[in-house]
Amino acid sequence: MAVWRDGVAVAVPAGEPVVTAFDQGLGRGDGVFESVAVVAGRTPHLDAHLARFARSAALLGLDSPGDAVWTALVAAVLADWDAGTEGLCRLFLTRGPGDGAPPTALALLAPVPPETLRQRAEGLSVVSLGLGVPADFRARAPWLLGGAKTLSYAVNMAAGRHAHDLGADDVVFTSLEGLVLEGPTSTVVWAARGTLHTPPVDTGILAGTTQARLFARAEADGWPTAVTAGTVDDLHAADAVWLLSGVRGAAPVHTLDGVRRGDAGLSRRVRELLAG
Ligand code: PLP
Repeated sequence: MAVWRDGVAVAVPAGEPVVTAFDQGLGRGDGVFESVAVVAGRTPHLDAHLARFARSAALLGLDSPGDAVWTALVAAVLADWDAGTEGLCRLFLTRGPGDGAPPTALALLAPVPPETLRQRAEGLSVVSLGLGVPADFRARAPWLLGGAKTLSYAVNMAAGRHAHDLGADDVVFTSLEGLVLEGPTSTVVWAARGTLHTPPVDTGILAGTTQARLFARAEADGWPTAVTAGTVDDLHAADAVWLLSGVRGAAPVHTLDGVRRGDAGLSRRVRELLAG
């Protein structure tokens, strides 16, 4: 763990307290975060996460200490990390305790959970769950913080538990009209008619760094991509569906709302495009 203290990145032992109980990130979820993959002791996609982190902070009106501090915090947690272990580095920025005190900025590093690795390798079952918002609403409602990766993930975590109660691994959220949005911690991508598709970000979903990387590399490799307002029926009809995130990579959806589905052998190409 590493924390920004008196203007410098300080490495601290895992058990050491670093945040006051008055921190508004704790009491109100008033903050933002990023989850960054650590592969071979490095963070190859840190820049894309820092760019989104800055956008999230701006949407919440939070002062971010800047990329140099985040880079120093990441370097501090990576210093004694075993490069053979795949890691999950979390960056947190909260409003801090208030009353003019600086924001809280810290980095945590832990091994990627085995369940995440299993889903990447074996795929996962998902259920579609309604989020109750019209697809065009969050673009007009900045107070709902669409597109920001906030610490207020209690709804996302509850959706995951609900999926588990239904015997599934994960969730695809849908809008009030039944359009596909995103997973609680992932971007939805599907392949249909020779094209890779993902939902539009003006629905208020998070702009996925993994999806952006996949689409850029797919285009360069001659695989067309499109931003598409799709329904759950479109996912059922697709050749393949994946949940994408930086740490999990591309996890193929093998079951959607209880219906088994394949990936038409496309997951291998997606993984190759995302590698490196
Ligand atoms: N959507 C949500 C709500 C997420 O929490 C995440 C992952 O953090 C993603 C999408 C995927 O983003 P990325 O590919 O940048 O990890």
